[in-house]
Amino acid sequence: MRPLTFDNRFVRELPGDPIRHNYTRQVSDCLWSAVQPTPVKDPQLIAYSAEVAEMLGLTATDMQDRELIQTLGGNGMLDGMFTYATRYGGHQFGHWAGQLGDGRAILLGELVHGGKRFELQLKGAGETPYSRSADGRAVLRSSLREFLCSEAMYHLGVPTTRALSLVKTGDQVVRDMFYDGHPQLEPGAIVCRVAPSFTRFGHFELLASREEFALLKRLIGFTLDRDFADWWPSTGLTLDVNDPAPELIEAWFEEVCARTAVMIAHWMRVGFVHGVMNTDNMSILGLTIDYGPYGWIDNFDPGWTPNTTDAQGRRYCFGRQPDIARWNLERLAEALGTLLPSTQGLADGIATYDQTYFRALTSSLADKFGFERWQEGDGELINQIFEFMTRAEIDQTLFFTQLAQIDLQQPQVSTLQNAFYTQKGWQDFNQDIQTWLMTYCQRLTQSQQSLAQRQHRMATANPVYVLRNYLAQEAIDLATAGDNSRLLELLEVLRHPYTLQPGKEKFAEKRPDWARQKAGCSMLSCSS
Ligand code: AMP
Ligand code: MG
Ligand code: MG
Repeated sequence: MRPLTFDNRFVRELPGDPIRHNYTRQVSDCLWSAVQPTPVKDPQLIAYSAEVAEMLGLTATDMQDRELIQTLGGNGMLDGMFTYATRYGGHQFGHWAGQLGDGRAILLGELVHGGKRFELQLKGAGETPYSRSADGRAVLRSSLREFLCSEAMYHLGVPTTRALSLVKTGDQVVRDMFYDGHPQLEPGAIVCRVAPSFTRFGHFELLASREEFALLKRLIGFTLDRDFADWWPSTGLTLDVNDPAPELIEAWFEEVCARTAVMIAHWMRVGFVHGVMNTDNMSILGLTIDYGPYGWIDNFDPGWTPNTTDAQGRRYCFGRQPDIARWNLERLAEALGTLLPSTQGLADGIATYDQTYFRALTSSLADKFGFERWQEGDGELINQIFEFMTRAEIDQTLFFTQLAQIDLQQPQVSTLQNAFYTQKGWQDFNQDIQTWLMTYCQRLTQSQQSLAQRQHRMATANPVYVLRNYLAQEAIDLATAGDNSRLLELLEVLRHPYTLQPGKEKFAEKRPDWARQKAGCSMLSCSS
């Protein structure tokens, strides 16, 4: 493999445990532990993202390089790489969970290309000090889901970590398949994730909870210096990387709040449900991170969660995501507050979260419904249709793409018929929605937009293609049988999610009936 440029600032500038021992343990006064990926039998590259490869300066030829593929499977290291796992904690399902850390993610270092810096991370490359009772591995089905979805999210315009590669390891991994209850052997796989930073809220929380305050200051200073280099000078404050000033910490927290708000508004726009919004899965950069039991809304339902572990409480259901993000930011504020004389500045950050979220949400809803701008009364109008959509079981994605086809002069509910999941919903809500459409069209006729302008506005906010759970599952079933064609086809279709593509209409349809309750198509468990 030709040489790549690595500059591993995280391990160079922050304290860590340099001795490579993968055994499970509690770690203190460190932010990282050197680890060795556990070799696998026979790494095979089954898919890669051409955009991410290009972003990293890797050519199509590089992507077929044996040494690179071995490395992406955890069997090698390129010059300049350094392998480690980071130490973090987190609140899981509302409760402090103590030390968690990268239990199955192993960083390869920071690749520098085109003036940008990228952390590369193998997910599923074996045990680390943070694996607790688990095996450090990932199976093909969860890896394929992470690989496809992070790329799909990127192309939808949602802030996200990326995925370079999906490698089948050639090993079998034991998993407790939730749908028949018996442990099974499944093909193992490894995704190489890519982001400017994988730092999570939980990194800061753990240091505060362990009262490692000097290290907490250093991590904040480092994060500002490396990950917020484009932002912090705009505050007009100076940065002491070992001891950042309280005003800078407060201003930075506010920035994190704003970024998080924008990310959540995007999730709500496209119908994405993260499913495990624990604070260890919240990125400090406001990126969608950790694609586990995520899901996509088919029939619009604020109470829906894809996570079987969460089925009772529905803490992480679609409609609660904005509140949960705020709750998570409050936990981050508590951690940062341990360094500050007062909590007022952090409260201002939370207020900024609320304001930014409101602005981002209303502007994306205005686009989704084709309004030039958000105005008084729109909230009421939209809440009404959301309630009908929930009760009548209407597909969120199809509803919006078809709403763009409504004739303003003569609105007909039949234009939306295909978005209904049940005959009963269609019959019971036909009249209500017809009436709603009249009011909606009146609202639209108040503006000066042409039909083309309105349809263009709506088309930029309403995807045609999302990674519906059943679509991912079909690709998984085929890939498990050795056929990667559907995976590659979806990867290609999802690169242009806002455009209906000839021959690919079938991926824009609503969830078929057979997929309603089928395992993998509706709900998933946490850590496969
Ligand atoms: P998650 O629910 O995916 O965010 O994972 C929570 C914690 O469990 C993190 O510290 C993960 O690294 C760890 N974890 C999840 N699955 C595994 C696994 N198979 N092996 C080791 N650690 C894991
Ligand atoms: Mg996680
Ligand atoms: Mg996970």
